[in-house]
Amino acid sequence: MESPDVVMWMEMLSGAVAEHCDRLTQLDSAIGDGDHGINMKRGLEAVVSALSDDAVRAQPPGKVLTVAGRTLVSTVGGASGPLWGSFFRAAGRSAGDVPSLDGATLVTALAAGVTAVQELGAAVPGDKTMVDALLPGVEALRSAQGDGAELPQALERAAAAAAEGAHATVPLQARKGRASYLGERSVGHEDPGAASAALVFDALARSVT
Ligand code: ADP
Ligand code: MG
Repeated sequence: MESPDVVMWMEMLSGAVAEHCDRLTQLDSAIGDGDHGINMKRGLEAVVSALSDDAVRAQPPGKVLTVAGRTLVSTVGGASGPLWGSFFRAAGRSAGDVPSLDGATLVTALAAGVTAVQELGAAVPGDKTMVDALLPGVEALRSAQGDGAELPQALERAAAAAAEGAHATVPLQARKGRASYLGERSVGHEDPGAASAALVFDALARSVT
């Protein structure tokens, strides 16, 4: 995975978030304040614009990820901006200056991203947050690679696991973020941040295929 692939990932993600903006907004209206779709759309549009700069695209993939993360922090408000910003910045920092990410460096980078999200937000699995989609996604990627799967197939398995993780937040009661204020009333709805995490993995899988 080289810099143009990371750019493609972010472009596909931006397209997917725009396409699913209303759904993300509806999910966040049910258990939050209804801004998640618009937050993510604005942030990813800013990322795509930042990555259209030739000087940025000429940098190694880790640096491109870092720019994406920094852009999200500065353009997305709410809880998800700093969390998604930390995810991509930590992934970029982990990737460092290597010109191309192989499966092993990619899984290490994504795992570093999830660790950063957990350090910042203190969410553990089952708290009904983006972590509930991110962690299964990374774990599926790691195990697919352990099985010797090629990167596109491994990423497809990761995307399926992330989507499953997002759906599995429906019966959970939120213990972190705005949705936790609802207590038991947060049960019965998919977590919006987990839904966007599924889109992140899906766009990644499609960008390498
Ligand atoms: P806000 O809640 O400030 O309106 P968003 O609506 O953009 O921000 O994002 C909400 C999402 O952020 C939630 O669905 C959840 O997945 C995620 N989130 C909130 N708090 C945390 C946390 N402490 N750790 C991990 N993810 C969190
Ligand atoms: Mg919100």
